[in-house]
Amino acid sequence: MKFNTKTIHGGQQHEEATGAVMPPVFFTSTYAQSSPGQHKGYEYSRGANPTRTALENSFAAIEGGSHGFAFSSGLSAIDCVLRLLNPGDEIIAGDDLYGGTYRMFTRLFKKYGLEFSFVDMNDVANVTDKITEKTKLVWLETPTNPLMKIADIQVITAAVKDVDDSILVAVDNTFATPYLQQPLSLGADIVMHSATKYLGGHSDLVMGALMVNNAKLAEDLHFIQFAAGAVAGPMDSFLALRGVKTLHIRMQRHSENGRAVANFLKNHSKVDEVYYPGLEEHPNHNIAKKQMKDFGGMVSFRLKDKSKEAAFKFLENTHVFTLAESLGGVESLVNHPSTMTHASIPEVERLKIGITDSLIRLSVGIEDEDDLLQDLDKALNL
Ligand SMILES: *Cc1c(COP(=O)(O)O)cnc(C)c1O
Repeated sequence: MKFNTKTIHGGQQHEEATGAVMPPVFFTSTYAQSSPGQHKGYEYSRGANPTRTALENSFAAIEGGSHGFAFSSGLSAIDCVLRLLNPGDEIIAGDDLYGGTYRMFTRLFKKYGLEFSFVDMNDVANVTDKITEKTKLVWLETPTNPLMKIADIQVITAAVKDVDDSILVAVDNTFATPYLQQPLSLGADIVMHSATKYLGGHSDLVMGALMVNNAKLAEDLHFIQFAAGAVAGPMDSFLALRGVKTLHIRMQRHSENGRAVANFLKNHSKVDEVYYPGLEEHPNHNIAKKQMKDFGGMVSFRLKDKSKEAAFKFLENTHVFTLAESLGGVESLVNHPSTMTHASIPEVERLKIGITDSLIRLSVGIEDEDDLLQDLDKALNL
């Protein structure tokens, strides 16, 4: 199947009892057994629930994996991956990560004896330089949040595996989605998503996903998912499955509108830099072009006026763009990383990586392009 068919049919079967085209929402915690241990494949819904199974099969299909897993949040999906490791193990991660990922690494897992180094993934040598015999995981995000930096998944994965084949490479594919980029096909071992964002696509749930293409890794992740218990519920699973069915057409429009907004901002007198991998002047535009089908709906930019007041005036005065955390829904959102999504990163670290008060992040939705540009123009010119 091609991708645009997989989003709708990948891993899906009509329900056996009635032929229902969509899987019912199986609101059940447990399943009747005819004799101890005799059941139809379902025992207890932490282990498996048919609505979640339908979604997990869809997740696997869209990332070109053999197995998919649905969690109660994106962070609980990351937590599951980190639990593969042991005290003393080392992790190399990008230096421009989602704030919650950074917080989990440094404030939760560090105290259990995991060691993290954060490097600029722009240069593969930064990654290979940090590899020791204790390195067990490389964690990368591309495009990054919020500065839209691009890491070359294929080059980094090949270089890491060249040093030590057993080091796992995991990619947070939340910003790109499998419509734009498929890390498993570029050599990565694990794909992670905050399905809260584009996979769900409608800002109506919180969910995480993992996809792999390796039966042993899938068994280990499933054990942790079952044993730690952060599973997605049946109603959320149903909503996310419905969301995935339109992923391809949503991403197409997100990309069209993202490109239009980036070009508009680039030429606006009140705007300084624009960060969008689809712009030719983006420093990694060529890598983005190589590994992505299109460039999506996430656009960040800096105002020329560097004061916090100027940023707040803009943020308080958009109307089609709603000021809110999160991203990836059909509606456009605007966010101030330094006070909102990335506030948990210490200020010195934030400034070092360029998250200043004048930085603004947009999640460009699928509304009409003219309304989006007009809204931005009005708020910029106040
Ligand atoms: C939102 C987000 C997460 C965390 O996911 P939750 O669903 O909020 O737990 C991780 N990575 C990225 C890139 C995100 O945008």
